[in-house]
Amino acid sequence: MSDRVRPPPMPSSARPPLPPPKGKGTGLWKRYYQIAVENGHPNPEKMADSLLRNREMTQELEQARRRLQVTENVPRPNETEKISKKGRAIPSGAFRCKATKLDGKQCVFRCFGSTDFCTKHAVKKTLI
Ligand SMILES: [Zn+2]
Repeated sequence: MSDRVRPPPMPSSARPPLPPPKGKGTGLWKRYYQIAVENGHPNPEKMADSLLRNREMTQELEQARRRLQVTENVPRPNETEKISKKGRAIPSGAFRCKATKLDGKQCVFRCFGSTDFCTKHAVKKTLI
């Protein structure tokens, strides 16, 4: 058993009552009130206030959120991205393999991970 003496619990200060919802007394509030009465809530007015306040706060937060930008413009393809004769996309310079093939052209494959080469041209670490 511990001999620690715990401090007596501090009485919590009563919170001030929340302001009534803006739409109190309107059709929706009356509907909430009616539902609370039907379900036998002990304080239907407070329940209707809470529901309507919650709804109004949610709507305010939704209004404050950044809207998703909807555009009808078709995004242009990346200008540095080329299409080969075979129809496959060649990655732009930064993402393209730096290796030079035997015919003197640059490799058309995409870099693998953080290396400068594709999986075919990457130097494999071998144990000697
Ligand atoms: Zn390559």
